[in-house]
Amino acid sequence: MTNAADEGRRDSATVATASPPARLPAPVLARHQAAVAAISRAYAALPPGSPVRLAKRTSNLFRFRDPPSGQTARSRDRAPGTATGGLDVSAFTRVLHVDPRARLAVAGGMTTYEDLADATLRHGLMPLVVPQLKTITLGGAVTGLGIESTSLRNGLPHESVTDMEILTGDGRVVSATPGGEHAGLYHGFPNSYGTLGYALSLTIELEPVQPYVHLRHFRFTSPEACMEAVGQIAAERGLHGHRADFVDGTVFGLDEIYLTVGAYIDAAPWVSDYTGQRIYYRSLRGPREDFLTIRDYLWRWDTDWFWCSRPFGVQHPAVRRAWPRRYRRSDVYRALVAFDRRYRLWETMNASRGRPPREAVIQDVEIPLERSAPFARFLAAEVGMSPVWLCPLRLRGDQSWLLYPLQAGEVYVNFGFWGTVPLPAGRSDGYYNRRVESEVAALGGRKSLYSTSFYSPEQFWEHYNGPAYAALKREYDGAGRLAGLYEKCVRGQ
Ligand SMILES: Cc1cc2nc3c(=O)[nH]c(=O)nc-3n(C[C@H](O)[C@H](O)[C@H](O)COP(=O)(O)OP(=O)(O)OC[C@H]3O[C@@H](n4cnc5c(N)ncnc54)[C@H](O)[C@@H]3O)c2cc1C
Repeated sequence: MTNAADEGRRDSATVATASPPARLPAPVLARHQAAVAAISRAYAALPPGSPVRLAKRTSNLFRFRDPPSGQTARSRDRAPGTATGGLDVSAFTRVLHVDPRARLAVAGGMTTYEDLADATLRHGLMPLVVPQLKTITLGGAVTGLGIESTSLRNGLPHESVTDMEILTGDGRVVSATPGGEHAGLYHGFPNSYGTLGYALSLTIELEPVQPYVHLRHFRFTSPEACMEAVGQIAAERGLHGHRADFVDGTVFGLDEIYLTVGAYIDAAPWVSDYTGQRIYYRSLRGPREDFLTIRDYLWRWDTDWFWCSRPFGVQHPAVRRAWPRRYRRSDVYRALVAFDRRYRLWETMNASRGRPPREAVIQDVEIPLERSAPFARFLAAEVGMSPVWLCPLRLRGDQSWLLYPLQAGEVYVNFGFWGTVPLPAGRSDGYYNRRVESEVAALGGRKSLYSTSFYSPEQFWEHYNGPAYAALKREYDGAGRLAGLYEKCVRGQ
């Protein structure tokens, strides 16, 4: 490893020379450097003023843009590196190196966690936080704030990044490290959603795993009791004698909430399989104890996209048997939703049956632990969705991050709720999402920006540190080659 000062000096040599910091095998390094040089040239060659997009095969964003007039959805989404202005990032989709001794991995920014986890599990290691959906990418989770059941212990994915190689909006390739020349970019990259630059490679810390996870599902009959238990787990790293290497929860109703606490173990008496006929989220209401291999644990939510596979009928035994196993994946369901949104199939069918229009309420929010029970009650009373996913988290480090300010040392609970709700008469789209936004603000929480947002510019910049963003935007994308954060996340540009 080179030190941060060396990195800083190397950065200033600019384009295509800010190689990843961990030592890569020579052929891998040469290939990677050639790819960095190629993408720098491709970026510089994009026609001025044309929108810049990552040409990725997958996405987990939930903002579906309408095609610009005169363009069909199909032509707009045409693949990468073509006349549509997509930046071909296919050279950055691989794990470049795993160093088991240093417990570090270097991976392309568009490497999926499925590939990343497979590569590291081979060495008995995994990233400190592995988001639950297989096609979430390392760069996407760092810039878009992933979260998972290790987040109470390990914080958020960006907190275990030691170095990011970033193609900035103004076309430089820089190495952003916590203490180097581009430390500001390093600290402002999380929650920037590709509006300051794109991570081409990242170096991340890994932790050792054991082969199995022993799960226990604890039931609570009120949100208050559940949140008290979260506080206990945060303080003691366990509950009723069960070690909490992993913890998340599921709300089926205010009187039926489960916290699932997982502990690494070396040997299991039996293991469950939720990639076949059985469905993971339903298992929470069954026996209080379960065992999974570590790989199956990591992807326990992916097979049924949490519970969101339900509208496709895949949870019906007959349909499930007929539905090929390789298509029981979150990216397949998301592609179906994208298709539906594009052609408004479900909306049209709903209207033709005389049913009220529905609003998509697809959000993840973080609420301070002591105000999480009131938020659970608000959600049940005012939005009324079920199930709801819970994931406690606490920043791993002792500093807050620029564009998504959470208090260091404070325990938060992430609420994930994904579905549609019928609109009351006289209300239009945005009614529920706006209520959620104002309740989150009133309770001192934060809302992730991967989905729809309705904030005014003033509210938005108050929540997401407008002055810090403006300074970073000036420094790394002064000419505004990339969309701004507000334009991208609220206006959907
Ligand atoms: C229903 C649902 C449930 C979710 N649940 C979870 C969850 O449980 N845990 C979790 O961690 N997350 C969850 N997410 C959110 C997800 O982590 C974020 O949307 C994340 O940003 C997606 O990453 P991606 O790799 O798929 O990126 P994309 O969807 O392709 O892109 C996301 C954004 O990041 C930018 N971007 C992508 N790659 C890079 C890069 N290399 N450098 C810079 N910018 C980049 C893109 O420009 C875009 O603005 C959920 C999302 C949905 C829709």
